[in-house]
Amino acid sequence: MTFQNYIGGKWKPSSSQETFLNINPANTDDLIGTFPQSTTSDVQEAAEAAREAYKTWRLMPAPKRGDIMRKAGMILESRKDELAREMTREMGKVFAETKGDVQEGIDTAYYAATEGRRLFGHTVPSELPNKFAMSIRQPIGVAGCITPWNFPLAIPTWKIFPALLCGNTVVFKPAMETPKTAHLFVEVLIEAGVPEGVINLVHGGDEAGKAVVDNPHINLISFTGSSQTGAIVAQNCAKQHKRVSLEMGGKNAVVLMDDADLKLALDGVIWGAFGTTGQRCTATSRLLLHEAIHDQFLEMLVKRAEQLKLGDGNQEGTDVGPVINDAQLQRILNYIEIGKSEGATCLIGGKRASGKGLEKGYFIEPTIFTDVKPEHRIAQEEIFGPVLSVIKFKTFDEAVQILNGVRYGLSSSLYTKNVNLAFQAMRDFEAGITYINAPTIGAEAHLPFGGVKETGNGHREGGWQVYEFFSETKTIYVDFSGTLQRAQIDNYDK
Ligand code: ADP
Repeated sequence: MTFQNYIGGKWKPSSSQETFLNINPANTDDLIGTFPQSTTSDVQEAAEAAREAYKTWRLMPAPKRGDIMRKAGMILESRKDELAREMTREMGKVFAETKGDVQEGIDTAYYAATEGRRLFGHTVPSELPNKFAMSIRQPIGVAGCITPWNFPLAIPTWKIFPALLCGNTVVFKPAMETPKTAHLFVEVLIEAGVPEGVINLVHGGDEAGKAVVDNPHINLISFTGSSQTGAIVAQNCAKQHKRVSLEMGGKNAVVLMDDADLKLALDGVIWGAFGTTGQRCTATSRLLLHEAIHDQFLEMLVKRAEQLKLGDGNQEGTDVGPVINDAQLQRILNYIEIGKSEGATCLIGGKRASGKGLEKGYFIEPTIFTDVKPEHRIAQEEIFGPVLSVIKFKTFDEAVQILNGVRYGLSSSLYTKNVNLAFQAMRDFEAGITYINAPTIGAEAHLPFGGVKETGNGHREGGWQVYEFFSETKTIYVDFSGTLQRAQIDNYDK
């Protein structure tokens, strides 16, 4: 199967005619298709089409744009299983999780649909008589949406539905690892009635991504990916004073107190650390265990982790799928070696998985390190794989210090029955998201999502807040006094 870009309402190959392959990470013999390796000139064409389409899209009433989002949500709902199957095939996470990924897209669509009737501004009293003052929300122009592979549908919908709802047009550059889901999503948008030029899909890698950031027709950038690439994106946006929203890495921790419900915590830690094969920006990659329950909980944890079944995510009974590709596999194995060389103890896992059905995929055994020190690299750096670092602590204050002692601040979690500690965690954990008695993963589409410190740059996706990012505030004064009224002067300098 050969797939194409979608620019100005037409499906077309890259002007370079070059392509790349999309391969199933659970079985590298399974070729999903070839996709266009786009160039700067493809991005230029898409940006021009989006700029042209913006002229009319911005004038469509927002509730009407919302109707199109609702239709897109309904189509996603009707194609949920099909989309999830395809997503699992191209990026590996298990079918139940890719269905969740589609559901997040559906939720985001319906939220956007209603937001079309609620793009609130303010009316404010003027300080002068016979004068009316208000603020309204306006679209910005063309939005460049650059997305990663771990949530191939949900993350694009987080960006594209709010961007469109606010009246912007879009150039969408998905990750090279998940172009099929992006293709299917754009099909859904077209079927829902998104007009030509309003959504443009440009496949490809770093060159295409950089061209989106640099293109002068594209006014704002919404990026999700690594902190390293995010820094480059931010620098390039600064050259043109582009608005930019960055969602980047995490090094999320669960803190488990000695009074916690250990069975509940066990479910949460297993799900947080090994769900999506640890390839979530909110994955639990550090577990902070109170010394009083350290040994007992570790024993429970190892027992459960050993039962996890690796395999093709589209096969019934699989708990953990492959990692995304060979480069990521090598990177994770390298971190495992770093962990061992720093003096941590690899309790289980620690190597590429072998066995029936795993020969042709990128599988890593769920890995747990103990005796990890907070300053170890495996406790500081994002690994993005099924590797959990366990750190022992004595007091809650010490746990807070360890939790906060990393450069990231996305998600965090505390298991306790002590309500005072729960509120301290809500206040003191340096993170954009804090869960109490739940794992570090599980964001809902109608709440803001994002992180502090090097995880983000102050913006949020999801919920009501993302609509601020995709719209500009305009302030309007209407003077119906029939005279020149000077603010700050005429009322005071009489
Ligand atoms: P990951 O490690 O999760 O793949 P990256 O940060 O490398 O994350 O990539 C995230 C997205 O950013 C991908 O769609 C990728 O193609 C794109 N990208 C990579 N380099 C650049 C760049 N210099 N400018 C803009 N986008 C880029």
